[in-house]
Amino acid sequence: MNRDLSATPRLTEPIATWSRLIEAMLDAVWLVDAAALRVVAANHAAGELMAMTPAELVGKAVLELAATPEDLCFWGEVAQGLVDQIESETLVMSADGTTKAVTRRVSRVQGSGDGAFYVVVLHDRSAQVKVERELEGVAADLRATLESTRDGILVTDLAGRIRNFNQRFAALWQIPPELLGQREDDAVLEWMRRSVVDPSAYMRRLAAIDEATMLQASDVLRLHSGTAIERVTMLQCMRGRPIGRVYSFHDITEKLEANRRIETLSYTDALTGLPNRRLLADRVEVALAQARRDGTPFALLFLNLDHFNHVNETLGRVFGDRVLRDVAERIRGCVRQVDTVARLGGDEFVVLANNADDHGAESAAWRVMDALKQPFTQGGMSFTVTASVGISLYPNDGTGLDELVRRADAAMRDVKLAGRAGFRFHRPRPEGDDEHSRLRSRMKLDHAMRLALVQGRFRLHYQPQVDLRSGAVVGAEALIRWRDPELGEIAPGEFIPVAEESGFIVSIGAWVLQCAITQAAAWAAAGRAMTVSVNVSAVQFQQPGFVDGVAAALREARLPPQWLELELTESILIQDAQDAMLRLQALAQLGVKLAIDDFGTGYSSLAYLKRVPVGRLKIDRSFVSGLPTEESDAAIVQAIIHMGRALRLQIVAEGVETEAQRQFLQDAGCDLFQGWLYAPPLDVAAFEARVSA
Ligand code: C2E
Ligand code: MG
Ligand code: MG
Repeated sequence: MNRDLSATPRLTEPIATWSRLIEAMLDAVWLVDAAALRVVAANHAAGELMAMTPAELVGKAVLELAATPEDLCFWGEVAQGLVDQIESETLVMSADGTTKAVTRRVSRVQGSGDGAFYVVVLHDRSAQVKVERELEGVAADLRATLESTRDGILVTDLAGRIRNFNQRFAALWQIPPELLGQREDDAVLEWMRRSVVDPSAYMRRLAAIDEATMLQASDVLRLHSGTAIERVTMLQCMRGRPIGRVYSFHDITEKLEANRRIETLSYTDALTGLPNRRLLADRVEVALAQARRDGTPFALLFLNLDHFNHVNETLGRVFGDRVLRDVAERIRGCVRQVDTVARLGGDEFVVLANNADDHGAESAAWRVMDALKQPFTQGGMSFTVTASVGISLYPNDGTGLDELVRRADAAMRDVKLAGRAGFRFHRPRPEGDDEHSRLRSRMKLDHAMRLALVQGRFRLHYQPQVDLRSGAVVGAEALIRWRDPELGEIAPGEFIPVAEESGFIVSIGAWVLQCAITQAAAWAAAGRAMTVSVNVSAVQFQQPGFVDGVAAALREARLPPQWLELELTESILIQDAQDAMLRLQALAQLGVKLAIDDFGTGYSSLAYLKRVPVGRLKIDRSFVSGLPTEESDAAIVQAIIHMGRALRLQIVAEGVETEAQRQFLQDAGCDLFQGWLYAPPLDVAAFEARVSA
């Protein structure tokens, strides 16, 4: 049996008996002499555990074999007779240097003689420890997975007792740490019940889930905290048998909020927050229903800002957007609560004036225009915005939104043609008028214009400019006129923008310059020298050969340059400022005069005006029309005149129609005026007749 042990000469007989006994045991066992505290016998399993032969173990001091402080201490106390047994988990160090986990039991046995032994039994736990470690690893992985999901997870058994949860679960439900620390399941579940907005519905649903064991469910829970939680319930099975439930909780508050926002956005204009066309349509439906019930009338005001593209082009979209928001605010501020202000896009707004007939619509239009008249201040600049407003009335002008909007839009376009900054009601057009407007489509216009230039159909009219102090005519503004054989008389407000868009304005502009310069030269030669003002479009001004072209035309007509004045808009100055400045300087060098047309409608800053070689400002007609009664107009006009004085600029007032306006301007210190009060734009013969009258 035990060859090694029986071969050991130091073994006494009783030890040999013990040796045989322990050899049969599966656990490692060694016998320790109680007096010497040295191993006197060891079994085969002990040899294997310690990676040595049992014979090699024999004779070793137990202190030498002890691998932990606990073992050292124990044997120390044994030596002092303090203890004689121990059972605990410990480690042993085998001869090959590896440590192994064991359960070690030591007990004292009295030998047959005086001798006593300690029996040391070591149960190798390494395999078990390995499994435990692996399980711990799996558990740690599980926990990490549980904690790393963005969902709250709660695992219960089938009776609803909590088996596991992650931190996210606790956070989502805002469960107090003390409840969780004590693992008070009932308190936690009660907390959840009290957190939801509708506890009884919540409990009913839980009961239903409990009832239907196999149920997989998804519900939305709303908490008092405002959080919306999606709860997904799944059955947890082990070897095919249900053992519990896994609830996952997902915070969908933001998702719901986003949905709500999308819903709102589909009804509002993102830039201004005003209702959009869709919501306007709904509101008009309501107004229509009411009107059909009891005949309450309503009106649509279609509003388009004047020259708004200049703002975007010259100052950029960001600035333009700010202006649009301001405009939206103003319009909203001046209509009644029951009215709807919508933005259709770009610079187009619609006001639905409820319970309004033509008088109501008119007063709404006045209010809107007044609200816009107050100067805007943006980025250190002060400027005004005007709008053209077209009005349609229900039931006279249409039966539905589309028709009413179309008609108001058409009326708005009429306002633009008539010079902007005003309002107009829709007027039924004569039969065949639709055909007329189709003919006037942009393409048709562009084509007709090209033909007109070749066929010499453009003419220039001249409007006298009068010195306010002396009453003398000191200048004339050249204004283009065009009568097409098919389309009739077409206003420059209609075709100039088309020509600007297609670039054909360059050719038209060259013709106007040449024609006006020739006329000015003729007047100078006849001894009635006067400044002739010519309107110049931005596209034309930006042509590389523009300055040279002006110089050549002056040379050819032999006109001294001081008799030519170019009217530029503020947008020209701001666009490509560096380049514009060089060009302005070149023109000034040439001796040509420069004026800023439609002043007040653009956005030029005072600082900028100081630096450009401009001699005159022309106050836009929209400010003059309100004189002398309209307070804000009066204030603006006075401010422009003061500013002009300070900058040594001459001020010309446009569109003077009444004596009261003229008087106001004269008193305010304005230099020149032009307008129907003195004369409209006239052909050369009529002009000469009027001036010499
Ligand atoms: P603008 O340069 O501001 O010209 C003044 C406009 O006011 C002219 O309109 C003129 O007929 C009108 N007007 C003059 N006095 C009165 C008045 O007392 N009351 C009213 N309500 N209006 C008055 P028109 O001739 O229809 O020209 C409109 C615009 O078309 C001009 O505005 C100018 O921007 C442009 N334009 C005209 N001719 C030319 C041209 O040869 N070249 C370019 N690029 N633009 C031109
Ligand atoms: Mg002009
Ligand atoms: Mg003007």
